[in-house]
Amino acid sequence: MNVPQTDTKRIVIIGGGFGGISLAKKLRKLDAQVVLIDRHNYHTFQPLLYQVSTSGLEPDSIAYPIRKVLKRLTNFHFRLASVEKIDTKRKEIQTDMGLLAYDYLVLATGTKTNFFGNLGIEKHAMPMKTVPQALDIRSLMLQNFETADDCEKEVERKALLTFCIVGAGPTGVELAGAFAELKRHVFPKDYRHLNVSEMEIHLFEGGERVLAPMSESSSKKAALFLENLGVTIHVNTIVQDYDGAILKLKNGQTMRTKNVIWAAGVTGAAIEGFETTKLVEKLNRYKVNGFNQVEGFHEIFAIGDIAYMETLDYPKGHPQVAQPAIQQGEHLAKNLSLLYQGKDLKPFLYYDKGTLATIGRNRAVADIGKFKFGGFFAWFIWIFVHLAALVGFRNKVVVLFNWAYNYINYDKAARLIVRPFHRKV
Ligand SMILES: Cc1cc2nc3c(=O)[nH]c(=O)nc-3n(C[C@H](O)[C@H](O)[C@H](O)COP(=O)(O)OP(=O)(O)OC[C@H]3O[C@@H](n4cnc5c(N)ncnc54)[C@H](O)[C@@H]3O)c2cc1C
Repeated sequence: MNVPQTDTKRIVIIGGGFGGISLAKKLRKLDAQVVLIDRHNYHTFQPLLYQVSTSGLEPDSIAYPIRKVLKRLTNFHFRLASVEKIDTKRKEIQTDMGLLAYDYLVLATGTKTNFFGNLGIEKHAMPMKTVPQALDIRSLMLQNFETADDCEKEVERKALLTFCIVGAGPTGVELAGAFAELKRHVFPKDYRHLNVSEMEIHLFEGGERVLAPMSESSSKKAALFLENLGVTIHVNTIVQDYDGAILKLKNGQTMRTKNVIWAAGVTGAAIEGFETTKLVEKLNRYKVNGFNQVEGFHEIFAIGDIAYMETLDYPKGHPQVAQPAIQQGEHLAKNLSLLYQGKDLKPFLYYDKGTLATIGRNRAVADIGKFKFGGFFAWFIWIFVHLAALVGFRNKVVVLFNWAYNYINYDKAARLIVRPFHRKV
């Protein structure tokens, strides 16, 4: 790779997500060359991907150019590349653009969708981890509505209008709520000759309750909110297979549907080059010590979703959400500065700010410390927290404007099929 060699040490960060960006931002004053590599030239605000999938927001409201976020860094280089391998002996990474040597390496690659080895589901269901995938879901949903409007056969029409979401974590719950809002307020106006009440929204969960990472009271409230919106919840139900037409459940039942969204799990986006003992089995997360150093290495760090740090408070690692990634990125910047000064590193301590999930208009649930509540106040907090966390002033303004417009008009304006979805054969 053509990155200039300088006298200062080179810190290579792989991944411009929450962890990578929060780290890079804080390296402004360090006398180091910072190189950030990502396969996208933008940072994705994943918590709002579901609003792109359901026409609430345009993708450019939740994505932000990495070069712009980090424009204040002087000795900084961004490279649009995919990292394929790490050579820890030569201290070099291999990318689809060539090789690059590092003095310090930070792995901030996050996670990828986990299909648990089920090829049928991988081929036919829709994941929602990136902006292009969210746009695919939006196009598929609108294309299927267009086809349904012209479909005479009831069985076929119902399959086109049946939406199955697998996984009732925050992503699945928020997505189901947004589909229900479309059914209630938007589609009846767009498709006046279609019986929109034929649209069904099913939420499948293998565990015994929705929003398992949250408190039981929030979980119950969320289930009630969803049911009031007309979502059918199937708990203790394992989805076994999907062939593009029929969804098969482990209990033997089947369902005809043309829309299956897979929100049932993620696995670490680990990169080749480490012994497998450095990764936690099944989770694919790098084992790190309290300073985020990958087991056995002083110069390689992992932060965010890809890092697995066991602490007394979090014996199974930190939750794979944005806050640990942001806080670990900021903390690692301080530790790199200490390292430069030859001082001892400080262990990472996670401060849990709480968990929120929204379910359609005016409703959300919140677990903040010992307070568990739901309804309008939680929804208001959800709005404020997401606006504050969005990267870029422009995006905050655009999102606020869109939300206000959608709220007043009961609308979701981004109902555009700009890049039709074609299933890969
Ligand atoms: C749909 C969805 C909804 C979510 N909702 C919430 C929520 O409401 N609240 C919350 O706190 N968290 C939420 N999360 C989780 C949160 O987004 C993650 O915990 C957070 O993004 C982790 O940050 P990270 O920096 O570790 O990884 P990421 O933000 O995932 O960033 C990883 C980056 O690495 C890049 N990358 C990966 N591999 C390579 C490679 N080999 N070469 C080059 N680049 C690479 C990727 O392109 C990406 O930009 C949600 C996640 C999803 C998918």
